[in-house]
Amino acid sequence: MSPNSVRIICRSSDILDHTMNPISRRNMLAGLMGTTVAVGLPLAAATAEPQIKERPDAKPKLKVVVTGGHPGDPEYGCGGTIARYTDLGHEVVLLYLNRGDWSDKPGYDPSPVRVAEAKKACEILQARPVFAGQLDGQAIVDPAHYEQFHRLLEAEQPQVVFAHWPIDNHADHRAISLLVYEAWLRMGKKFALYYYEVSNGEDTLQFTPTHYVDITRTEPRKKLACYAHASQAPDKYYGLQAMVTRMRGVESGHPQAEGYIRHVQSPDFALPMTS
Ligand SMILES: [Zn+2]
Repeated sequence: MSPNSVRIICRSSDILDHTMNPISRRNMLAGLMGTTVAVGLPLAAATAEPQIKERPDAKPKLKVVVTGGHPGDPEYGCGGTIARYTDLGHEVVLLYLNRGDWSDKPGYDPSPVRVAEAKKACEILQARPVFAGQLDGQAIVDPAHYEQFHRLLEAEQPQVVFAHWPIDNHADHRAISLLVYEAWLRMGKKFALYYYEVSNGEDTLQFTPTHYVDITRTEPRKKLACYAHASQAPDKYYGLQAMVTRMRGVESGHPQAEGYIRHVQSPDFALPMTS
């Protein structure tokens, strides 16, 4: 597959590979079985290669919100996809539940460092950081916070939102996943809802993607964005995430990929248009 081509295979009657590449027998078979197999999320309009215009004036602009428990989560889980969206000129918001204020050192507040790292990561990905104002390690899910988070998402008017997969060992990840879910319900399920994985084994568990995004071209920027979180042991955590993206690549037929689970009642996201 050439660097600019995107393979999009959805369902049996919806095989949308217009690249010059043959559709693999495996994917074709899966398509005929009616199975959702692989979608290049940022380019779902699918499309002959000449129509894929990764340029800033591509219309219409989409609003993408990638939520995460802590500074760094959206970057590690979805950084390659985020870079693909912003390369296409779409607007991406990284919405962090907290500012990373937890520390095991008494009296030390790491949040200024964590916020500066998040801003740097967002610059690399050309995204905009937003902080939901909760405290690291003390996430609250109650009616008042459901309402506050709903208002926050409502103000952004996203077409698609990415959230932590809720089976996760970190309470902050589970909390924001629930907050997103409730906002999605209150907003009439009108935005597409995708779940992502991060720090598998340590955090995300039992995750089996339904969709994949080829991040081969954007992986270097993802890595830079993750390493912007220099206080968070990037050698350890990026090493783990790189294993995951390689594995998702093996599954989907790319050198590197990010995997997602789309909610079964989610709109079939109308991805970046051709022009
Ligand atoms: Zn986290």
